[in-house]
Amino acid sequence: MRRFDPRIRLPKLATRYFPNALWRLPENEKKVALTFDDGPVPEVTPWVLDLLKEENIKACFFCVGENVERHPELYQQIIANGHQVGNHTFNHLQGLKTPDEAFLANVEKAATYVDSKFMRPPHGWLRKSQYRELTKDYEVVMWDLISRDYKEKTSPKAVVSNVMNFVRPGSIIIFHDSVKAQKNLRPALPVVIKKLKEEGYQFTLLPEKGKQKTDKH
Ligand SMILES: [Zn+2]
Repeated sequence: MRRFDPRIRLPKLATRYFPNALWRLPENEKKVALTFDDGPVPEVTPWVLDLLKEENIKACFFCVGENVERHPELYQQIIANGHQVGNHTFNHLQGLKTPDEAFLANVEKAATYVDSKFMRPPHGWLRKSQYRELTKDYEVVMWDLISRDYKEKTSPKAVVSNVMNFVRPGSIIIFHDSVKAQKNLRPALPVVIKKLKEEGYQFTLLPEKGKQKTDKH
């Protein structure tokens, strides 16, 4: 049974605040997109890459620029394994707490390390003015459900439930390849993948709409 929990899925009305952002994939196919935020870090990202390889799943990694600067080999491994990458700012800045100019400059700084037309705002929120500027160059990717794996006080079991109680065709699901999340991610992610497969879900990449905008052919 699906419950209402805005910490996991925002009410539809809230998603309209960023109407052109990507919140969900087409609802008529039983597919989900796994996304991993805040890496790449050596403690977790290689483990995620190994698991995805074993399970034959491609995903999107929203990378923090300063992490890519520190671990370029991990970024290259993500690309080499056929995954997508997205921009998650250089310093994981919260848009609402950051003046527009500084925020946008931080996204551009990250773009020198992360080659992508996808952008996900850290903590999920942006000022409307930042959103308007970003959508000129990026596809802003939000989520259909958040696993809450990064919450210290949650359990791996709760993370599995968060996903399995809320998943639906087209869900864009957020996990974190971060040190903070790994105590939940490591036990929960293999279980989530197994259960989703059992329920008949396929895994897909994000639609490359942003690229079509710029590729003029
Ligand atoms: Zn983040």
